[in-house]
Amino acid sequence: GGLMRTPLIAANWKMHKTVPEAVAMLRDLLDRLGGQAPTDRRVLICPPFTALSAVRDVLDGTGIFWGAQNMHPAEEGAFTGEISARMLTDLGCSYVIIGHSERRHIFGESDAFINQKVHAAFAHGLTPILAVGEKIEQRRAGEHEAVVEAQLAQGLEGVSAEQARTLVIAYEPVWAIGTGETATPEDAQAMHAFIRGWLAARFGDDVAQQVIIQYGGSVKPNNVDALMAQPDIDGALVGGASLHAESFARIIQFQ
Ligand code: PGA
Repeated sequence: GGLMRTPLIAANWKMHKTVPEAVAMLRDLLDRLGGQAPTDRRVLICPPFTALSAVRDVLDGTGIFWGAQNMHPAEEGAFTGEISARMLTDLGCSYVIIGHSERRHIFGESDAFINQKVHAAFAHGLTPILAVGEKIEQRRAGEHEAVVEAQLAQGLEGVSAEQARTLVIAYEPVWAIGTGETATPEDAQAMHAFIRGWLAARFGDDVAQQVIIQYGGSVKPNNVDALMAQPDIDGALVGGASLHAESFARIIQFQ
């Protein structure tokens, strides 16, 4: 990543871990980190909603951030089963993942709905991590940049340059998620540079240089160093390897 951007290493636990499992993993992780977050990189844990309160109690004062994997854009109301931005800030969340490929492709979320969530996050002081990425057939057809560009344009519609300054983008090629097949550092870098170029055209180069662009998709202890060495890769959004303290600690300690 660039020298001026603080790397962001995030755990996306998806639908894993009960409260006792979450607490045990974080105690183990903190032991491995010497009880505190490192100062030269930012660490974020996104547990299931049910564990957020317990995660806050363990992480409060450690310098590690916590956030959510999803939310509903409405302030409140008759939305059975949903969680609002205010419920997340009430639990001390700083970030929310929006538009993860599993939300897009399993639950059918549209770019317009994702855009509403981005606005709701900003309105409540949550940092949105907007996830984008192409499917394998789109990459094979050479459409990967066009797909990501459309997701950015629609997902960020109406977002101001001042808001964009604090935004996080997660580039997660769908074919690399949970498959053990990661993008090469060069292919990932090419897409990250494309995304930063798009952000520069839309919001200005000054803003684009500040946006954290994470890579996600089978990030592991044995590939994180090469990915993080790329100039436009500023962090990682980690699924499977974030579930275990040993592997996630090693990813946090990338060099
Ligand atoms: P993975 O998941 O690390 O298990 O591939 C990444 C993600 O979906 O955020």
